[in-house]
Amino acid sequence: MKTLAVLHASQLVTLAGAPRPRVGPEMRELRIVANGGMLLRDGIIVATGSSDEIARSVPADAELVDAGGRVVLPGFVDAHAHPVFAGNRVDEFEMRTLGASYEEIAAAGGGIQSTVRKTRAATEAELEQQALTHLQRFVACGTTTLEAKSGYGLSVEDELKILRVIRSVAARSPLEIVPTFLGAHAIPAEFDGDVERYAALVIDEMLPLVAAGGLAEYCDIFCEQGYFDIATARQILEAAKSHGLALRMHVDQLTNSGGASLAAEVGAATADHLEQTDADGIAALKRANVQPVLLPGSVYALGKTRYPRARDMIDAGLAVVLSTDFNPGSSPTQSIPMVLSLAATQMKVTPAEGVTSTTVNAACSLNRFDEIGSLEPGKLANFSIFDCDDYRELAYFFGIPQTHAVYVCGVEAFRV
Ligand SMILES: [Zn+2]
Repeated sequence: MKTLAVLHASQLVTLAGAPRPRVGPEMRELRIVANGGMLLRDGIIVATGSSDEIARSVPADAELVDAGGRVVLPGFVDAHAHPVFAGNRVDEFEMRTLGASYEEIAAAGGGIQSTVRKTRAATEAELEQQALTHLQRFVACGTTTLEAKSGYGLSVEDELKILRVIRSVAARSPLEIVPTFLGAHAIPAEFDGDVERYAALVIDEMLPLVAAGGLAEYCDIFCEQGYFDIATARQILEAAKSHGLALRMHVDQLTNSGGASLAAEVGAATADHLEQTDADGIAALKRANVQPVLLPGSVYALGKTRYPRARDMIDAGLAVVLSTDFNPGSSPTQSIPMVLSLAATQMKVTPAEGVTSTTVNAACSLNRFDEIGSLEPGKLANFSIFDCDDYRELAYFFGIPQTHAVYVCGVEAFRV
């Protein structure tokens, strides 16, 4: 049995509490232990308390981790990311600085389709190598659990290839990875806009193989005018449910097309993006207990100004989640601290609400509350030490690394 004692945290941010998502004023209750410590055994948290208390109960053979007056937080849970793709879109990024819009670039064959072409041409080994590089940056920013979507293959063979890569990098990275099938991310160029024919491929061929191979826990879809409309999205999501997959959805990013209401109707775990969602959509999410996943990095990186209505959602009692949306086109960042900064400055989400949204609430959205999301006895010893003495500094300082060390199941995964 290996015992580890973490001592001298200026703040041990536990988020201890009821085993359910936090809503309303609860989102500001972080249950911080000043000068805190933790006892861990075999990768599981055994006790939390003041550093002095913990120090008194440390067995002689325990390994000590001195937090040195720094902040200790649960590992971040990033509940929305697209980490497997080939190449990047830095050329398009530059074109956008010169005035081209994301939509114009997509119409000229760029955007998602350019990443699809490169990803189809890449081998599994190449995709694995690139993904592992991306994953290590998540860890370096303090993330310990990551949801990972397919969606840059858009053919039976290439979607399965990406899901296999997700499975193999999960075994090689310290991150715990939750796989999501996003075959309905876009309509591939060779289908020439024939949504119905492509939806049939997703439903009749992709979904059965994904489910039979146990390659995904969730099915996601890009529900938007010109991509997958409400009726088509409903068909695909119902088919996914019949294969035992739970649901996440990209909705209301570019237009308010009623996606939030569809998420409520089909019982999705999450409705993600929601930049255009109105009061009716918020009420529908509330009635059906769907968790909103807000992605301010994609609004920022696209140079847009319309952020989702996080304050209205928190005030309505929704269990808000914040995530990076890491992807090569609209949100090339793995940094949850950057997301906390954007949430605070652009969406008026307090640092405490931001921390709750990226730990406990995100863990609930991935159906993993029993294991992760807070620092409490019985949970996995997934935690990060940040080089600050007040957790609010994570949202206050931006664009600089503050991670000191990251542990997954009590094992060091990163250290400066
Ligand atoms: Zn996304």
